[in-house]
Amino acid sequence: MFHWLSSYRYEYALATIPVQVILLAFYLFRRNLPTRTNTSFITIMVANLVMTVSDIVACEVLAIWQDIPLWVSYAANMVYFISFTIRGWALFDYAANECHAYPLAGRHGRFLAAIPSLALVGLTLVTPWLHTIFQIAPPTGYQTGPMYSAIYYCTYFYIALSTICVVVLRRALSRRQILGVLCCNAILLVGIIIRKQFDHTLVLSYFSMLSVLVIYLTIQNPDLFRNKKTELFNREAFNHIVAELLDQERPFSCLCICIDNYQSMRTLYGPRQLGNGLRLVGRWMRGTFADCHVFYWGNGGYLLLSTDAPKMDWPRVTTKIVQRFEHHWEGEGTTVGLSVSMLGLERPLMPDNPEEIMLLVNQVFRHVAEENSRGSYVASTDLLARIERSKTVEEALGRALDERRLEVHMQPIYSVQEQRVVGAEALARLTDPTMGPIPPNEFIKVAEQNGSIMELGRQVFERVCLFLEGSQAQELGIRRVNVNLSPAQCLNDELAKELADIASKHGVSMDLFDFEVTETLFEDNAAIQRQVLELRKHGAVFSLDDFGTGVSNLTRLMDLPVHVVKLDVGVVRSYFDGRIAILPDLVGMIHKAKMTAVLEGVETRQMMDGVEAMGCDYVQGYFFSRPLPPEEFITYLRNLGHQGVTP
Ligand code: C2E
Ligand code: MG
Ligand code: MG
Repeated sequence: MFHWLSSYRYEYALATIPVQVILLAFYLFRRNLPTRTNTSFITIMVANLVMTVSDIVACEVLAIWQDIPLWVSYAANMVYFISFTIRGWALFDYAANECHAYPLAGRHGRFLAAIPSLALVGLTLVTPWLHTIFQIAPPTGYQTGPMYSAIYYCTYFYIALSTICVVVLRRALSRRQILGVLCCNAILLVGIIIRKQFDHTLVLSYFSMLSVLVIYLTIQNPDLFRNKKTELFNREAFNHIVAELLDQERPFSCLCICIDNYQSMRTLYGPRQLGNGLRLVGRWMRGTFADCHVFYWGNGGYLLLSTDAPKMDWPRVTTKIVQRFEHHWEGEGTTVGLSVSMLGLERPLMPDNPEEIMLLVNQVFRHVAEENSRGSYVASTDLLARIERSKTVEEALGRALDERRLEVHMQPIYSVQEQRVVGAEALARLTDPTMGPIPPNEFIKVAEQNGSIMELGRQVFERVCLFLEGSQAQELGIRRVNVNLSPAQCLNDELAKELADIASKHGVSMDLFDFEVTETLFEDNAAIQRQVLELRKHGAVFSLDDFGTGVSNLTRLMDLPVHVVKLDVGVVRSYFDGRIAILPDLVGMIHKAKMTAVLEGVETRQMMDGVEAMGCDYVQGYFFSRPLPPEEFITYLRNLGHQGVTP
């Protein structure tokens, strides 16, 4: 039967060793963030393990110190005290890195904070000669030295300091991080106190293990920083790494890489196949750009972060990527063909705090996905100014929606056959107190991207209802008002009900409305179709807006549930510029499909004559009037009445 040499009780300490070894091995095996926080955490784990083992060894050798060389007993105890001291410092170092405390303490902050532990390590190293911390001598063997208590005070000091850092700098941390560090400190403190009470039981290792477990589970779990699909680092990891690079004032640059038409690719290949493809892309990037950190941003976005030089060797990197994407991605039972767009961001163009950099990168990804620009380029100040502008537009729109300041202007729609104004298109208008008027093309795009288009749609519709309710528009000959609908609005399952409710609140019939939609709205999406059908049931009609731009599909036109086709301003202009001559054919074709043709963008008498000759049904444009505020529109209609309806 095995007998321990000393009378100490090791159960707790022994039980923690396998747990500590497994935790450490598992942690080192996973790819971890290349950050100082991570190095501190590994230091804590290693110091804890060494402390546990050396504690047992030291107790055992002290039982037989007279039978073995004296230096062995000294060495075992010194290892214990040094690992104990380092563990205390590493815990503080971990917290200080986590809450970015060092940059606040100046250039030598980290070194200054380490002085107490360095001094104690020094005192421990000279112990065999000066007996500062302890001594081993006859007749009793081990005895504490005059500086022995400093070992504990040093750890108390670091626990207190890290608690202060976390409390003072709590704004830089998430609740999870604050709780993790504070719990860890509390557990350790309890451990040290209990150890003093139970002199002959090695309990401290148990509490040390618990404190590591708490940090592991709350803050350091490698899965928190990983995207499961691609096995790459995620945005959280990017945030941590960039925060440290900024703390250390190290240069870096990023390349945002975006899979073109990500949503369509998902539909085409299915989520599983595309997921496999994305993983293959991720693996290739990690293998090919080993000198960069690779992140997966979500929605087909990858990010390369280079910390080597202030400027990345863009031509080399982007050419490699472009060449690789010319081939399919094969493996794991998957073959997918993808193309990418890229945009590089250099450090001088980036803001100085990680949150703002994250926001900028988000915007850059949105921009790259939207512009879908094949080929690669580096972000310019001009582009960043555009991105900045869309951020301020977003804020202005948010304020306007909160304060219900959005307005609508009305633009007359003229019937060629009846020779009078019979309708109007309602167009949203946003004037910010500081930025002035913002064009709809700008804020509608922003609203579609950030989801506020639903609220915008509601407020515009409410304004139109108010106009119809409180004015004499109908008496003045207005039969229908056209309201623009974005595809994103129709994704709202409640759209038809919401609009019908608003109309009935104002006592306005739904058959007064003609909803203008673009062709994208009629993609095979059951949810959208349901809303269209529902609105039609309420008596509303639909027009196809902006025909002649983008993806106009002539054969599909016949199948769409619309009665009116509006030809885009651009198409009309290019006909009268003499660039594209197909306008009369398009009008003829719309008539053959038994639909009505509306021409937008008619600005002059000469254009109006041309349009009439073409046999077009309705006309809209500056020739009649620019979009007008509701009251002015009513005055305009009244004046028409006096002049005999035609302008
Ligand atoms: P749209 O629906 O095609 O509206 C016609 C645009 O052409 C309007 O621009 C109008 O002011 C402009 N226009 C009219 N006549 C002429 C002309 O003779 N010459 C020229 N050069 N332009 C003319 P606006 O008001 O800037 O609106 C731009 C787009 O913003 C609209 O295009 C529409 O797609 C969108 N939009 C506006 N209001 C709303 C809204 O309430 N909801 C949604 N979802 N989209 C809206
Ligand atoms: Mg329109
Ligand atoms: Mg249009």
